[in-house]
Amino acid sequence: MLVAGNWKMHTDREEAIRLAEAVVAEVGDPGSVQVAVCPPFVNLEVVRQIIEGTPIRLGAQNMHYEEAGAYTGEVSAPMLKSVGCRYVILGHSERRQYFGETDEGVNRKIKRALQYELIPIVCVGETLEERQAGQAAAVVERQVRAALDGVALHSAEALVIAYEPVWAIGTGHTATPEQAQEMHALIRRLLIDRYGEAIGRALHILYGGSVKPGNAADLFAQPDVDGGLIGGASLKAADFAAIVRAA
Ligand code: 13P
Repeated sequence: MLVAGNWKMHTDREEAIRLAEAVVAEVGDPGSVQVAVCPPFVNLEVVRQIIEGTPIRLGAQNMHYEEAGAYTGEVSAPMLKSVGCRYVILGHSERRQYFGETDEGVNRKIKRALQYELIPIVCVGETLEERQAGQAAAVVERQVRAALDGVALHSAEALVIAYEPVWAIGTGHTATPEQAQEMHALIRRLLIDRYGEAIGRALHILYGGSVKPGNAADLFAQPDVDGGLIGGASLKAADFAAIVRAA
């Protein structure tokens, strides 16, 4: 199981320090559960210092697909690697929705992240309109196939998929465990088709979208739900720790 906190555009430096310290204290020893926090870029370094020597790992929320160059305002894979990131969230629906990210761009980012041994947490998920139109499975399948186009994987630890239905993000309308499992099973089949039984079965597929301490255990009990990508609840250390304990 893997539980990752996506802090989104929250926390200034002092808040990041306090939250990271509280997460370390509240999570304690998570046993076999892998735990990561993904603060804003400017707070990666200070959070890294706090979680060093603990079981908590560091992730970023985005990156550019080029290694360096005249891309004002952007951050590259080698930069993230050099400040201690293990993970990078790619293709989050907020990036797709507000910043024009495309399947093709996400695919390029994934390839670059893998080159630098960053573990991409690749986000996919349908909008409410797409679900109501009966298109949810087709949309997710397209996103997964496009993201992984030409992506070779030699280990199940190299990449993570996160299913985040857009209608469940920040809305309090969590997918039911059955809705989550149905889509995770589809993603699992795609991964097995693409990478074979051993890697396909072992790849982590996270659920994201209004995961809270009260619903985490039921979601994580589904056979193809291998953890969660947590937004709002990751900003409260006690809630985040409770979700880790449910995993
Ligand atoms: P919420 O947990 O706030 O719904 O956000 C989910 C998410 O987008 C995580 O990446």
